[in-house]
Amino acid sequence: MDVVTVGETMVLFTPDSTGLMRYANNFSMKFGGAESNVAIGLSRLGHQVGWISKVGEDEFGKAMKAFISGEGVDVSQVKQTSVAPTGIYFKEPRRANDVRVYYYRKGSAASTLNEDDLDEDYIKKAKYLHITGITPALSETCRETIFKVIDIAKRNKVKVVFDPNLRLKLWSEDLARKILLEIAAKADIILPGVAEGKFMFGEDDPEKLGRLFLEHGASLVVLKMGKEGAYYFTKEDEKLVSGFPVDNVVDPVGAGDGFAAGFLSGLLDDLDLEKATQRANAVGAFVTQVNGDVEGLPEKDEVDSLLTNKTDDVI
Ligand code: ATP
Repeated sequence: MDVVTVGETMVLFTPDSTGLMRYANNFSMKFGGAESNVAIGLSRLGHQVGWISKVGEDEFGKAMKAFISGEGVDVSQVKQTSVAPTGIYFKEPRRANDVRVYYYRKGSAASTLNEDDLDEDYIKKAKYLHITGITPALSETCRETIFKVIDIAKRNKVKVVFDPNLRLKLWSEDLARKILLEIAAKADIILPGVAEGKFMFGEDDPEKLGRLFLEHGASLVVLKMGKEGAYYFTKEDEKLVSGFPVDNVVDPVGAGDGFAAGFLSGLLDDLDLEKATQRANAVGAFVTQVNGDVEGLPEKDEVDSLLTNKTDDVI
């Protein structure tokens, strides 16, 4: 196994029409979850990935498991529970550049994840553990699960990769800041956005932020900078790696997850940090051009051909 990830995926309903959702008659159904997005991205790039989660003993849970398994991700560690339903959420495209999100996930099956759902023998086979700041926001048992999985990874020399993925709809600012900083102190690699860095450290200068994350404990930080690309930082080296600017973005959500998949894929293929960041930027750019979180994730040969023809032009 190359990468193991832990987190909630929900059923996503999007109205086919723009405007207030109260007037919507038709919805399309997809699946969305940061961790499974990363898992699918990695699978599409040719890596072995496992997703640890819990779904309801319901139609949505069954559909979700089948979908993610169909994308080549190992779902053997996804439990089904009859005590809680699979979470759902809605995206309301209110008007251009204003998409609102409504969660129906409180008490969901995944929010009942707990330490007993972790199998150390499974996790220790991975090279990287990918976690986000969403899971610890879901419930106290989810928070304990995240700290336990980090301990398991560290004990077994599995590198911990953390995307803060700040979601202030799920918890208070004070608790979010405290827990995100605690996890950041334990992570080997951190993939924040500038806004998340500002939330955590009160600083928005990219170079200062990169160094703050390093001083806080990580050995590698990659700061996502939207269409400008991303900045990587280690104690010895730092560099802004330009992106592949997309001007007509169709759906920006999921770009960060694609970025994480591209970056980890680069590390797994032993690319240097600059090339791994380029691959990450390329995958992020692909995702922005298609509606949905995972539908735009590229195959390996698509990324390679974009990278070999690299220009600074719009894709
Ligand atoms: P998410 O909304 O998925 O949480 P994020 O806020 O974590 O995303 P962004 O900085 O928006 O992260 O995007 C992640 C990466 O995707 C960027 O670093 C870049 O490589 C790529 N990307 C995002 N937007 C664009 C764009 N308009 N053009 C080209 N690349 C982009």
